[in-house]
Amino acid sequence: MTSTGEVPPSTTTREDVSTELPGLLPFFDNYPQIVYTKSDPSVGTLSTTLFQAVTPAAIIRARTEEHVQAAVKAARSANLTLGIRSGGNELAGRNLAGTDKGFLLDMRSMDSVTVADDRKTATIGGGILMGRLAPALADKGLFTPVGWHPAVGYAGWAMGGGYGCYSSMYGFGCDQILGARVVVADGTVVDVDERSHRDLLWALRGAGNGIWGVVTQLTIRIYPHPKLLNGTIEFQKEDWPAVLDKWAEEFEPNMPVEFAGDMYFRNPIRDKPEMVIYFAWCAREGEDLQKGYEYLERIRSLPGKATGSVAETDFSTPLSTLSVFAIGAFSVHHRGVVTNGISKAVASTLAHHWQSKTLYLGSPSHHGHGKAIEPDPGACYPLRYQHRLFPLVASGENLLTDQKVQLAVHSMADDMAKDLKATGDVFEGVANGNLIPPEDTDVDATFGKETVEKLRTLKRKYDPTNFFSGGYPVL
Ligand SMILES: Cc1cc2nc3c(=O)[nH]c(=O)nc-3n(C[C@H](O)[C@H](O)[C@H](O)COP(=O)(O)OP(=O)(O)OC[C@H]3O[C@@H](n4cnc5c(N)ncnc54)[C@H](O)[C@@H]3O)c2cc1C
Repeated sequence: MTSTGEVPPSTTTREDVSTELPGLLPFFDNYPQIVYTKSDPSVGTLSTTLFQAVTPAAIIRARTEEHVQAAVKAARSANLTLGIRSGGNELAGRNLAGTDKGFLLDMRSMDSVTVADDRKTATIGGGILMGRLAPALADKGLFTPVGWHPAVGYAGWAMGGGYGCYSSMYGFGCDQILGARVVVADGTVVDVDERSHRDLLWALRGAGNGIWGVVTQLTIRIYPHPKLLNGTIEFQKEDWPAVLDKWAEEFEPNMPVEFAGDMYFRNPIRDKPEMVIYFAWCAREGEDLQKGYEYLERIRSLPGKATGSVAETDFSTPLSTLSVFAIGAFSVHHRGVVTNGISKAVASTLAHHWQSKTLYLGSPSHHGHGKAIEPDPGACYPLRYQHRLFPLVASGENLLTDQKVQLAVHSMADDMAKDLKATGDVFEGVANGNLIPPEDTDVDATFGKETVEKLRTLKRKYDPTNFFSGGYPVL
């Protein structure tokens, strides 16, 4: 049993493989129980990903590093495209590209958690989801920063940056990575840490998603569990102008390090847009939560009617309650920008969108400040200055089939991106590959030309034929 539920048994036969993906036969002959071709009745419960446009010809559900090595070798020798998935949340579906003629390597069964004797590090499986990692640590009185959703894969989250409830106090997800085991393109395992393959460690910390190899294991920093406040405060649309204006003036420029500052603008029940402040306060060692409660009251007394609740908790419980935002397969149009914060102009732009009463528009706004933006030469993650990420996700019923809906949904996200850019408070082309789509990403502007050149040199060293072509950043 894993956090992702029981894995249904494969009923794929040798005949299915020889008809549907003959190149995979040698692998199937050795590991029949972990191969699911497209026609396997169990495949539906395994294959859900956010991105819907590509169906892999087969799924391999790896349980061990040996399975991963064999899968990589099988893909190489039969010239099959291999995509890597953990949580399956990649909105642009880059890891699915070409897998209709190949397979998706599903890592979710590799979800172990081993805490070191000194309780300062944990070694975790490459496919673990937040919703399994957090309780495994919290139950032992331990902690590590995580993102906001239980079904997000830790590796993809952390290696692509890793924003969330506690990054301002502890650093981004990528800053927690101390080591990794990576199955590279020739099927061998590279053990990465400060002493060995340090260059790859630097690359995995911020530019790691699927371009170097399959990460089977990560060693991460863990901490004694701090005192925490966590919950949400919501404001309805009519109050946004006043709330956001005051936020821009009084809150945004002086955000305490203890407070993450992430927000979500969305219309979940179509005609009722709401602004959700994810309130996470992480007390400094030896301090109580008094300052957190005072800050909470300041936010609650913003103009307008604040609803929602915030309470003292461990870091695992909020993840399980937040699963109300269940991840399902849905089609979206996705844009995104990085701003220098919520300025008055950004505030006014946010307040004037969300006009449609029938179409969905959602934008988390992840905040980079505090420890997260302290320079770290050991990590290539580049956004070490105060910023906010706005992934703009629009959707509507029958998006893929109804042209009218398509036009409306596209213009909703496109207009929002254009208007945010017009504020002059956007870092042009700067992006985070996990949250902002290729269309709005300029890799040079994001990482800087020197870092991109260094990453390209490493790519030639570790994956000279670009076998792992489905990840990001695209170098
Ligand atoms: C509902 C939702 C909430 C989110 N919340 C946050 C948040 O709070 N903070 C934040 O920063 N981001 C957040 N994200 C973005 C999220 O971090 C990225 O989409 C992340 O890459 C998802 O990882 P995954 O394993 O779930 O997805 P997948 O689609 O399985 O993988 C994403 C990418 O990582 C690569 N990858 C996954 N596992 C491995 C591995 N073992 N080895 C090598 N490469 C691997 C894949 O190849 C792919 O390119 C959220 C996304 C969604 C949909």
